[in-house]
Amino acid sequence: MEENGSKKSNLTAYFIPYLTPSHYLPLFQIAKLFASRGVHVTFLTTYHNSLSFRDSIDSLNKLGLDIDLDYVHFPSKEVGLPEGVENFSASPNLEIAGKIFRAFFMLQAPIEAKVRAAKPDCIVADMHCFWTTELAANLGIPRLIYHVRAAFALSAVDAIDRYTPYEDVKSDDETFLLPGLPHPIYMTRSELPQWIQTPSPYTTFSNKVKEADRNCYGVLVDSFYELEKDYIDYFRNTLERRTWCIGPLFLHHDLVLKKLNSGLDNNNSKAEETDKHPCLEWLDKMPQGKVVYVSFGSISRFSSAQLFEIAEGLESSGQPFIWVVRKTEGESKEVTDKWLPEGFEERISEKSIGMLIQGWAPQLKILEHPAIGGFVTHCGWNSSVESLSAGLPVVAWPLSAEQFYHRKLFIDVLKIGVGVGNMKWSSMIDGTDELVKRDKIENAVRELMGDHEEAQERRQRAKEFGIAANKAVQQGGSSYDDLTAVIDELQRLKTSNDVA
Ligand code: UDP
Repeated sequence: MEENGSKKSNLTAYFIPYLTPSHYLPLFQIAKLFASRGVHVTFLTTYHNSLSFRDSIDSLNKLGLDIDLDYVHFPSKEVGLPEGVENFSASPNLEIAGKIFRAFFMLQAPIEAKVRAAKPDCIVADMHCFWTTELAANLGIPRLIYHVRAAFALSAVDAIDRYTPYEDVKSDDETFLLPGLPHPIYMTRSELPQWIQTPSPYTTFSNKVKEADRNCYGVLVDSFYELEKDYIDYFRNTLERRTWCIGPLFLHHDLVLKKLNSGLDNNNSKAEETDKHPCLEWLDKMPQGKVVYVSFGSISRFSSAQLFEIAEGLESSGQPFIWVVRKTEGESKEVTDKWLPEGFEERISEKSIGMLIQGWAPQLKILEHPAIGGFVTHCGWNSSVESLSAGLPVVAWPLSAEQFYHRKLFIDVLKIGVGVGNMKWSSMIDGTDELVKRDKIENAVRELMGDHEEAQERRQRAKEFGIAANKAVQQGGSSYDDLTAVIDELQRLKTSNDVA
């Protein structure tokens, strides 16, 4: 099947996302990729979340992709949420997040009804939608799962669940080995999610997700073979999980659109020029590879005290920077007034050594700008993949979710990371009570951006991964071929189901 949207297969797929952009955006990218190979795709979400896909889907339909958008009612009233708050990025506190989570469970019945009525040939669902494994089994079709994490993290989580090595240590900061993995990887109990350390209702949910994951047909990973071949082989061969690594998803997607757009008269590039974010204009004036980009994803926020330390650390590093700031809500005015050292903004602007973005940064464009030479990241998998594709070394500063595993991947396996920051896992919404001091931040940035041999080697290795990432999605590349393989497999299953 060709990647042109014109050769239709008779395969139909339902895509079921989770309620947060860093999960539903990559799943939407997979949906587009499937549609670009001729699969008839339906993306099924809630009403207000669906609004953000409407325009894209209209454009994709015009380009010939067979992709539909459908939605179910989100039970705002039933859980006491204001109309329109349907995803976690709109939840400033634990109370609202808890209500969204309750509403998420209530979506199971209406989504199941839609899928049963449509009888698709397969379901591609986010990891959180555990009930889709059973639904698919009842319908006699495969369910593919999408996690927002590396094959390394999938393997590490399996080792933790299978061997519970954290039970054999005496304290939260004593290290233990993750058994069975291709490299000696050590962690501490404090780096593990709270629900593993202390059983809670989330532990029950997490166990259901894991069981559904183990029983589903196969796993789609936003990664590429050349990046973590030992872990992809381990996951596929030792753990015997059907796995397709089809990333970096966002790079593929560019290729698909570029190809579909060719021949169409559109003014996208002109519009982009006019809308250029001021930080990109600032970067245009900076020397190549000298600016460090500092960002901690779309959800995590820091206290004023931590922001103060970051500001001091960045300024003393002497390295030009772009820093995306997200502040914890609910602190007193007295505290939040002091989140920046006195005169900080004036100094960095006068000397043109830094830029603060309080809001949404054009991260992809920043990372691919030639002036950027390194990334201080929370190791969220989307940011990680974007950074790897741009060929950048990182300061790895994890906070939550699977980010602590990704720090290990960057530092111990890929050897393109410098470690700093939190040693204790914290909930994304609650935030952390650890304070990372300015000298640690300064030293990590200097180490990352330095010219000594080790820094240069890190830089060179990162560059090679960037080249490999871009090759993986080209025709004949590993991810391109894995995408072909998964669709061929689904087609084969459909044909054998039809015959049976
Ligand atoms: N992102 C962005 N601008 C911002 C913050 C985040 O474009 O100011 C994007 C980033 O490029 C990535 C996603 O949001 O695609 C964040 O996902 P990730 O998995 O890294 O972290 P999370 O937000 O889930 O913690």
